[in-house]
Amino acid sequence: MTLHIETPLVESRPLSLAANRSVWIKLDALQPPGSFKIRGIGAACELHARRGKRRFLSSSGGNAGIAVAYAGRRLGIPVTVVVPQTTTERACQLIRQENAEVIVHGETWHEANQLAVSMLGEDDAFLHPFDDQLLWTGHASLIDEAARQGNKPDAVVLSVGGGGLLCGVIEGLRRNGWDDVPVIAVETEGADALARSLAQGSRIELARIESIATSLGARQVCQRAFELAQQHPVHSRVVSDREALAACERFLDDHRILVEPACGASLALPYFAADSLAGERVLVVVCGGVTATLDQQRLWRDALRA
Ligand SMILES: *Cc1c(COP(=O)(O)O)cnc(C)c1O
Repeated sequence: MTLHIETPLVESRPLSLAANRSVWIKLDALQPPGSFKIRGIGAACELHARRGKRRFLSSSGGNAGIAVAYAGRRLGIPVTVVVPQTTTERACQLIRQENAEVIVHGETWHEANQLAVSMLGEDDAFLHPFDDQLLWTGHASLIDEAARQGNKPDAVVLSVGGGGLLCGVIEGLRRNGWDDVPVIAVETEGADALARSLAQGSRIELARIESIATSLGARQVCQRAFELAQQHPVHSRVVSDREALAACERFLDDHRILVEPACGASLALPYFAADSLAGERVLVVVCGGVTATLDQQRLWRDALRA
């Protein structure tokens, strides 16, 4: 049993026409808690449960916290998520709807995280949203599935926040003998910690996040992601918030699936910047996200217009 499901891999006709090549989409937006995060977090939580942990702690008000809450409910283990005051009511609701406890604390994630870490007892497991080997190995299942479901792609397109998905996908490419498949790592302007780190040759920390793609809003990518981006063929790309949001809207029309701008960033390449893609056959990770409602989509559009 796994807590994630096997998601469809389908050739997208609209994206293929837009990009003038064959575009395959791995639909992790269809995971029960709404994003790919359950792959790694689900695997990590199962292991912690087997090792006798009695409670899961998280400090993510985003897709990671929701995935931990989902995993806890499925495994019968209580979950506490500490989130900052900036977390939306919807995110809190989604966490509570999985029977997890939500503690609202502090003005920033940093303060919420400090409280979460201070609460950690011997029988508790802390689930980091991206910097954890257990997560990466779990995320790698996305490529195991793609290798069973279809042919080898010429490139994999994915979004980068803290870099956990990047680490997992590269681990998956390696363990399936696809070491030579390049990864196109996409960020939005204002959340482009990887792009800037690669340009400067050192792992920089952004002073602040200035992007609507909140799930990409890690100020620094994890050390492992920075290392792998230099060992594996990784091409870094940056798109605007406008492009990411427009890609979400087109994807909703084309495939009737609503995703976050964090995911729209990856979709923006085949839709609007196909010349920055390599090869005839491209696999795009549709990583999902639960913050995107139709109302929220309108708020983002208004904010970008202003
Ligand atoms: C977490 C997340 C990302 C970024 O993943 P990292 O592992 O932090 O790089 C991208 N998109 C969505 C929808 C996410 O939830």
